Amino acid sequence: MLDEVVDWVVEAEQVAVLTGAGVSTASGIPDFRGPNGLWTREPEAERLSSIDAYVSDPEVRREAWQRRAAIDPSAIRPNPAHYALAELEQLGRLHMLVTQNVDGLHLDAGTSPERLVEIHGTARAAACLSCGDRQPMEAVLERVRAGEADPRCDGCGGLVKSATISFGQALEPTELQRAHDAAVGCDLMITVGTSLVVYPVAMLPQTAQEAGARLVVINAEETPYDGRADAVVRGDAGEVLTAIVAGVRDRLG
Ligand code: NAD
Repeated sequence: MLDEVVDWVVEAEQVAVLTGAGVSTASGIPDFRGPNGLWTREPEAERLSSIDAYVSDPEVRREAWQRRAAIDPSAIRPNPAHYALAELEQLGRLHMLVTQNVDGLHLDAGTSPERLVEIHGTARAAACLSCGDRQPMEAVLERVRAGEADPRCDGCGGLVKSATISFGQALEPTELQRAHDAAVGCDLMITVGTSLVVYPVAMLPQTAQEAGARLVVINAEETPYDGRADAVVRGDAGEVLTAIVAGVRDRLG
């Protein structure tokens, strides 16, 4: 099965990859819906990802900031899955990478910003929900660690949140367009480490297939696309991607 996927990667004109939280679990960041997922273990944590709860409930904001401030960013590094995708780009075999992840690890691993769509934003920045002013996340976290439980915008006093798309928030139209263009323009789409249930991103494999692309699904668990994919690889994102990229490297000599 992997040999066939390697053939498809080598032969495709445009390869698009769609990643989800499963690509970063090996870096120590839990996904939401996997067996050790944040929401699987702690269903009430789902509230922390809702924009309505964030805006209306100061307790939700305080908890979101406390959880974020407790993380040591230097302990979170890319894993073999991120590095394999960066190498695939270097080999000229990855044209667009759309990620639902907000952790910035694809950039850390060396994926080029022009080939990356962070469709759900980034947790490396914070933005004011009123005036849109952005600042580095670390600058806000320093204020939280110094005692500000619910930091406000310096400029307008508005609520500040990580520059990520929470449930109930609209996606950035330009990023959504880039992701859509990647799906329409590819002839091979590979999804990795995503449950493919969060819309509108979960539409992208269907969009790619309707435009004529092959679809490969790599995930630890079943996804709603398994029945219609050209290949389904059940396994660990890092191991499977490393094996595919090694095969591509060999084939390209
Ligand atoms: P999800 O939690 O819905 O699904 C993750 C999938 O990955 C699961 O099906 C799980 O079985 C699989 N998985 C976990 N570890 C794996 C591994 N090592 N190898 C292969 N598969 C593995 O995640 P999603 O589909 O990305 O959607 C959740 C939303 O949550 C996204 O919108 C994303 O923005 C956000 N999120 C991001 C992060 C992050 O930035 N790292 C973490 C959690 C959630």
